[in-house]
Amino acid sequence: MRETVDILGVNIDKITAEYALKKAERYVRTPGVSVIYTPNPEIVMAAYENPEFRKVLNEADMCTPDGIGVVYASRMIHNPVPERVAGFDLACGLLESISKTGESVFLFGAAPGVAETAKARLEEKYPGLKVAGTHHGYFKPEEEAEIVEEINASGASLLFVCLGAPKQEKWIHRNRERLRVNLCMGIGGALDVFAGNVKRAPEFFIKCNLEWFYRFCKQPSRLGRFAALPKFMLTVRREQR
Ligand code: UDP
Repeated sequence: MRETVDILGVNIDKITAEYALKKAERYVRTPGVSVIYTPNPEIVMAAYENPEFRKVLNEADMCTPDGIGVVYASRMIHNPVPERVAGFDLACGLLESISKTGESVFLFGAAPGVAETAKARLEEKYPGLKVAGTHHGYFKPEEEAEIVEEINASGASLLFVCLGAPKQEKWIHRNRERLRVNLCMGIGGALDVFAGNVKRAPEFFIKCNLEWFYRFCKQPSRLGRFAALPKFMLTVRREQR
C-alpha cells in the first residue's frame, strides 16, 4: 500500500532512497509495465496548472520527491517525506543492481549520438551491465510505434525515457499498454550526464541541498525554469491556507 503526500494535487511517495531502490528493483523483475516519475517543483507546478498532466503523474506506480523544493513543501504542509529521492541517483542504483542480476536496460532520449556515448560509458562504469538498445529523442510522431517496437524487440526489462518533462511522462503514459518492458522511468537530462556532456553537481552541493544552485550557475539560461521554484513554494503556502 502506497503512502503518499498530496502536493498541489500530485501524489508524492513518502519513501526513502533505499526503499525506492528496493521497490524499483522488484518492478524490474516483475512482468507488467510499472512506471516511476521523479517530479521536481517545476514538474509539480506544471501538473498543478494542467489537470491532464496531473492525471498522468497520478497514474504512476511511484512518484519520487526529486528536488529539495518538494521536500520543503511536504514539511510546510506538515506531512513530510523522509528525504529527497533524486531520479538520477535512483537510476544509478538500478543500473548497478541490474549489472549484477542480468536484466538489461534500453536508453531512449537526448540528441542523436548521446545515448550511444552514454551506453559505452555506462558499460565501463558498471561491468556486467547489458544495454539492450538506444534511440535518440528527436523523432516524428509517426515514428513512435516503430520506436516502441524497437524497445520491445530489444528484450529490455528497464526503460529510461529521457525526453524532458512533460514530454517523457506523456510518452510513457501514451505507450504504456504497448510496451513490454517491466519498468519505465522518466529521468530528464540523465543521458547527457551519463554521456559526460553535462556534469552533475559536486557532492558538496548535493549534500547541502544546493544542486539547483549549481545547475543555475552552470546554465544561467535556465533562469526561467528556476523561477518556477518560488512560484511553487508560494502556491503551496496559499493552497495550505
Ligand atoms: N529531449 C529529447 N527530445 C525532445 C526534447 C528534449 O530527447 O524532444 C532531451 C534533451 O536532449 C535532454 C533531455 O531531453 O537530453 C531534457 O533535459 P533537461 O535537462 O531539460 O531535463 P531535466 O533533467 O531538467 O528534466
